[in-house]
Amino acid sequence: MLEIKNLNVKLEEEDKQILKGVNLTIGEGEVHAIMGPNGSGKSTTSYVLSGRDGYEVTDGTVMMDGEDVLAMEPEERAAAGIFLAFQYPVEIPGVGNMTFLRTAVNAQRKARGENELSAGEFLKIVREKAKSLKIDAEMLKRPVNVGFSGGEKKRNEILQMAMLEPKVCILDETDSGLDVDAMKLVAEGVNALRDGKRSFVVITHYQRLLDYIKPDVVHIMAAGRIVKSGGPELALEVEHNGYADILKAEGVEA
Ligand code: ADP
Ligand code: MG
Ligand code: MG
Repeated sequence: MLEIKNLNVKLEEEDKQILKGVNLTIGEGEVHAIMGPNGSGKSTTSYVLSGRDGYEVTDGTVMMDGEDVLAMEPEERAAAGIFLAFQYPVEIPGVGNMTFLRTAVNAQRKARGENELSAGEFLKIVREKAKSLKIDAEMLKRPVNVGFSGGEKKRNEILQMAMLEPKVCILDETDSGLDVDAMKLVAEGVNALRDGKRSFVVITHYQRLLDYIKPDVVHIMAAGRIVKSGGPELALEVEHNGYADILKAEGVEA
């Protein structure tokens, strides 16, 4: 479904190579976890997939269902089904959550060539999804993320994800700064969105999250590429021994 081949990326502003040949193939319905030391290029990978400014792809390809992702504008990528959950969700004072969600959903439907949802249709869907994610209806009426607790912001993000029905969801350290209960909520939300077709890329520092979101594959990223891949046991190995042994065994200087 998503195939990243030999992705090389440098900063636009500086002559600094950040990604040095990332290879990653994610099949339909699969959950892939990416772990790795700080500064190894995990966030950069997710930004480049979503089409953020400031990066230049110097080599490699990203294909999704046979389409060239790198040739698409950010909105087109979203419409094609790539969703990036932010590490730090933004607060938008003065914009109601409901309005925000409806605008986002309708913009995406338009880009997909689908008709916009009426207020009534939208309300029905958002209420259903909120209920299934155990999100209080009250939260839908408040301004986007303003005064939300860390856990509420994360749940809200999962709701955005549920409403946009992406094909590939990328969660970049969505668990950072969360207590165990909030982490479980994120995991429950993700698990509720697993349907055998939708794929997930979960970037995390903590093995613990992977107790709740069971990954099919765990990758270790270091120095701008994926240096090792394995099953869930690889995350346990990292939890117990850190990265040093793995990097040494793979001959990586990080
Ligand atoms: P990770 O998410 O794995 O911690 P990042 O992708 O955030 O790593 O960063 C990878 C490397 O690229 C780091 O050395 C970081 O400092 C550098 N980097 C990323 N974006 C920028 C930027 N806009 N300006 C300067 N350095 C950057
Ligand atoms: Mg980081
Ligand atoms: Mg990061």
